[in-house]
Amino acid sequence: MDYKIAVIEGDGIGPEITASAIAVINAVASKYNHNFTYDYVPAGGNSIDRYGVPLTEDALQRCKASDSVLLAAVGGPKWDALPGHLRPERALLGVRKELGLFANIRPAKLNPVLKSACPLKEEVASRGFDMIIVRELTGGMYYGERGRRTGEGGEEAYDTECYSVAEVERITRVACDIAMKRSKHLISVDKANVLESSRLWRETVHRVATTEYPEIAVSDMLVDNAAMQLIRNPAQFDVVVTSNMFGDILSDEASQITGSIGLLPSASLGANTCGMYEPIHGSAPDIAGKDFANPIATILSVAMMFRLSFGLEKEAAEIEAAVDAVLQKGYRTRDILDNGTEPLGCKAMTERVIEQLN
Ligand code: NAD
Repeated sequence: MDYKIAVIEGDGIGPEITASAIAVINAVASKYNHNFTYDYVPAGGNSIDRYGVPLTEDALQRCKASDSVLLAAVGGPKWDALPGHLRPERALLGVRKELGLFANIRPAKLNPVLKSACPLKEEVASRGFDMIIVRELTGGMYYGERGRRTGEGGEEAYDTECYSVAEVERITRVACDIAMKRSKHLISVDKANVLESSRLWRETVHRVATTEYPEIAVSDMLVDNAAMQLIRNPAQFDVVVTSNMFGDILSDEASQITGSIGLLPSASLGANTCGMYEPIHGSAPDIAGKDFANPIATILSVAMMFRLSFGLEKEAAEIEAAVDAVLQKGYRTRDILDNGTEPLGCKAMTERVIEQLN
């Protein structure tokens, strides 16, 4: 089969981890006789440097013309002082919005061999956990009305959380479809004791689940409690559905308890098969150019792309098994180092994964 992938290398460690992902894709391609072509699309800080904007119309059209988008990470201190609409992260919001990618799927699983990298108490870590956070991605406060104004006390700033029934319905269906393939237990996270938008969220999640997915048991959890439960007893979570901002925060927390932010992939999906796949971490400017980055999150993002956009389940499972095997053999990058182990760089770790694939 032929597949065209738009590749956003981005900034910081972006080019290093992208090279890892492409090397893995090429290894799978030659084993299974697939043909992948890559369109390297500028976005983020490097696009600002070249074109003055984080995402050009041409870049956006090239993403739209691809079968899927692979994104490393954008941003860095060089562009931090720019006004909001010109910041590198604007590129992500642009691609998500224009491709209609309303659902962000973030698995967070504690691999038993990385138990010692988990910052939780031994008794909690040894129970392990394996959850998927389904985050609404194109609504809520990150896209709501915002601004500054003068109030009675002087200058004020405001951001607005707004969700329509239709937005909540479609993200609930994505979460329920995932829950149906797992434990059939869905936890919806909101702040319904305070926010009206959360009360509408809660009503809608329950209505969709009850009428369309009667086999699924839905429970609710307030976001402050969810933040606490994630470190107290993460094993209780299986599939979680939540809003854009709550999902942003909780999924970073979930990632950290897996051992490292460098391990976790994500998929952003819309109504059709073209999705955007990216590690959940940022551009890690502190380690850029040093060959220190952990490539696993990006490699596992490729596995998600194969499964969810291309329907290549066998190839996806093989990539995941290769990563597991490498970790099982004790290979570690610096961010997940055990005492006394020699760290591997990004390139060497990628080579170990590719050896497992062959
Ligand atoms: P970050 O995720 O880039 O880094 C946080 C910490 O985790 C750093 O110590 C970093 O070295 C480490 N880390 C991250 N990825 C790693 C990997 N693969 N291997 C080993 N260690 C890794 O978050 P930050 O420092 O808050 O942000 C840096 C820049 O990235 C900012 O400009 C931010 O806006 C941007 N950012 C981009 C995205 C994205 O492109 N999707 C997401 C988050 C942050």
